[in-house]
Amino acid sequence: MLNIINNTTIIDRNVVILHQIWSNCAPTKKKDAQTLTTDHCFGIIPHKIFMSTNRIESCPICNGKHLIHKLSYTNRMANTPFDILQCSDCGLHITQHAPRQQDMGRFYPDSESDCYKPAQDSCDKWLDFLLSKWHKERVKIVREESRRNSGVLLEMGCKEGYFANAIRNNGWIAHAVEHDPTAREYGNKRYMLQIEDGRRFFDINPRSYNVVVAWDTLGEAVDIHRTIDKLSQLIVRDGTLIIAFHNAMSNDARQYGASWSGWDAPRKRWHLNPQAFEALVNQHNLEIVNKRHSSLCASITALSSEWQQAAKKRLITPLLRSMVRAIKTKENHTYYIYTLKYKQR
Ligand SMILES: [Zn+2]
Repeated sequence: MLNIINNTTIIDRNVVILHQIWSNCAPTKKKDAQTLTTDHCFGIIPHKIFMSTNRIESCPICNGKHLIHKLSYTNRMANTPFDILQCSDCGLHITQHAPRQQDMGRFYPDSESDCYKPAQDSCDKWLDFLLSKWHKERVKIVREESRRNSGVLLEMGCKEGYFANAIRNNGWIAHAVEHDPTAREYGNKRYMLQIEDGRRFFDINPRSYNVVVAWDTLGEAVDIHRTIDKLSQLIVRDGTLIIAFHNAMSNDARQYGASWSGWDAPRKRWHLNPQAFEALVNQHNLEIVNKRHSSLCASITALSSEWQQAAKKRLITPLLRSMVRAIKTKENHTYYIYTLKYKQR
């Protein structure tokens, strides 16, 4: 199935293989998250009214009911605060009253389009430089963790498709799904990718990919159990699943508090940490085969947090401080990358 066409361009191969993987899909089964209650209340916040659907009353990972208020994170685009709760049993952090997926756009109205603009100043140029290094680092991680130099890969939540494009340029066939229509359209036009609507994620045929990656997007899933189950089903029997996340229990999360850019609420509903993630994985048919962290991604997150804290965006001091923080951290890292395999029975 994976080696069917040799005489066409890589883009054409993507189209044909994508069609095979997605055709004859079973209809999507609707299953609500067990831990969510639907109260359809109208949350009223200064200058903003939005429909809030999900009030979380118990932890979806350990079922604990001891949720304590940790902090209030303000989504800057909509100037809207969101309560971040912490499960005192497993440490999972939760965005309370996260909007429905279809309402998410108003909290990131044109934020994605900012990414398309050329760098305006030295701060943007440095960030672009670090991000381009990060895309390359992820390609290297996929190669090392999967022990493959090529294959068919799916990225869940690819945003504008920078990583999908980077790995395709390194000899892989890359497919991707993304909820944000603006980001999806940009990636498809700019990079000629085949980014599908995130709503079709559950329609993809099982055992279709050598590698599936979720770079800090598992926390965006409405139903985290259904999503990790689906991720585990998408890899072939000897395939590799890579799940990465910002660690809500990291030194930086504690230090920056509500200014930590890793919260990214309300897009991110669940804020993982190693203990909670490993407890989640143990409930599914997956085995952890490796765990690593990224100082580069930690540095980018710290730099972004520094800018959130500062009244004026400056470069040198925040850049140096973020790099020193990332290098000095010996435990409770900011960004973890887990490699998982399907557990053979
Ligand atoms: Zn918990």
